[in-house]
Amino acid sequence: MNHVGKRRNDTVMKDIKKYLIPVSGLAIVACTDNVRERPNIIYVFPDQFRNQSLAFWDRDGYSEYVKWQADPVSTPNLDKFADEALVLSKAVSTCPLSSPYRGMFLTGMYPERSGVTLNCMALRPESTLDPDATCISDVLAANGYSCGYIGKLHAETPMKNDPANPGHYVSDRNPEWDAYTPPERRHGFTYWYSYGTYDVHKDPHYWDTDGVRHDPGEYSVKHETDKAIEFLRNRNGERKDGAPFFLALAYNPPHSPYEKAEDCMAEDYALYEDMDYRELYVRPNADTTLSKAPAARYYFANVTGVDREFGRLMAELERLGLDRNTIVVFTSDHGETMCSQGTLDPKNSIYTESFNVPFMIRYPGRISHRVDSTMLSTTDIMPTMLALAGLGEEIPDSAEGRNLAPALLGNGEGCDVPDAVLYIRNLDGEKDADGIVHGIFPEARGVKTDRYTMEISITRDYRLKRVLLFDDWNDPYQMHCIPYGENPALFADLCGKLKEKLEEADDIWFRENIMEKISPAPERGKK
Ligand code: CA
Repeated sequence: MNHVGKRRNDTVMKDIKKYLIPVSGLAIVACTDNVRERPNIIYVFPDQFRNQSLAFWDRDGYSEYVKWQADPVSTPNLDKFADEALVLSKAVSTCPLSSPYRGMFLTGMYPERSGVTLNCMALRPESTLDPDATCISDVLAANGYSCGYIGKLHAETPMKNDPANPGHYVSDRNPEWDAYTPPERRHGFTYWYSYGTYDVHKDPHYWDTDGVRHDPGEYSVKHETDKAIEFLRNRNGERKDGAPFFLALAYNPPHSPYEKAEDCMAEDYALYEDMDYRELYVRPNADTTLSKAPAARYYFANVTGVDREFGRLMAELERLGLDRNTIVVFTSDHGETMCSQGTLDPKNSIYTESFNVPFMIRYPGRISHRVDSTMLSTTDIMPTMLALAGLGEEIPDSAEGRNLAPALLGNGEGCDVPDAVLYIRNLDGEKDADGIVHGIFPEARGVKTDRYTMEISITRDYRLKRVLLFDDWNDPYQMHCIPYGENPALFADLCGKLKEKLEEADDIWFRENIMEKISPAPERGKK
């Protein structure tokens, strides 16, 4: 951890202790006698589920907090959950890509330290979760939790370790993307039902705790929910009886593919199939002439599929009487641009549709229902969740994010709530003759404040490429990029904030003085 982050955590820890002691002596006691009192945690994160695809954002009590319109989707179970949860309107995915997100969520570290800098695949062997990193699950397991992981991991480089075919990758795809994670790399997760990455929603596969492969031949969201329910019921020793549990549930949908009826469930598609797909685009920044435009129906069908299965999981949690002492989070690894901003790339950009993510947290009796604009970054999740579990003192020094538990608990006094958040975009570094990627090219960095979004990108020879600057309050669809000359003071202020965030993150842009080298303000002044 850099010194800035360390100092902040020390301060926050003093404050959270001050807050927790009068409320519950149990919450911060580390002795094992009180392990049973700790809350269970269920962390559900479908892939590429954009915040705009939650129907409640158009309802009273929610619409006042965002300036944009929600997609015309059906999400009744998530709407109900939102009414019981703290709903963050401005949570972001710091580096909005599958693998870097997972590395950051698990370790609380930025990609350069978690080890996961790029989307994991065989040609990027350097991008892989550091086996020695301390993950949220390592800390929870060490403090008596039973930890389970179900679904897409995508945080490790594929290795030639197929349990059924030693010395080979798990498939003959070239290059290989999918991966098997052996027990010694599972970071405290003792129940395992996972895979690397694989995109056939109705023909998924998994490797279980013992490394046995399963091909259930059914919709992955339904199948993974069935496995999660088995974990909750614990009829076959899925978890340690009497111990608190942590379950990470990583659905792949509504991630692509979303091109045809086979990519989703018929009952979900039926809600959208009679609509002209152009009617599904309510955002004025969407270009419905793009080749991807018809995909909205299938994407929304998968959104509804996730909603239905999430509702089934919540119903079972309640039926088992576990809901009162279980923290439930619903979020996503990044958003989906879905034809906004003229791009076919669904993610890896600072545009709201990609960078902003759902984040809802329900903790009965401790966190009250409300909508809150706290700007939670991906690195904040690990320290915040540990503190909510009463393990604030166990947050490892390696974690670089903030403990925002005091803010979420509703007593943010003394909590250093961020006034800006960092955005990171890395691309492949140099490729050798075999196509193997070495290092990263840090193409863009950006900052978002309560009101503005700014991204600065560079060319491969480290010259200024482009500056994006939006007033998200007056221009929520980000259709007018503010020219430098229109407001140089604003630009200077945001550059100052970006430099602060780069230093705080000990980012490569800070270490290599990239802001100074490209002098973005004078360059833009010449235009
Ligand atoms: Ca993803």
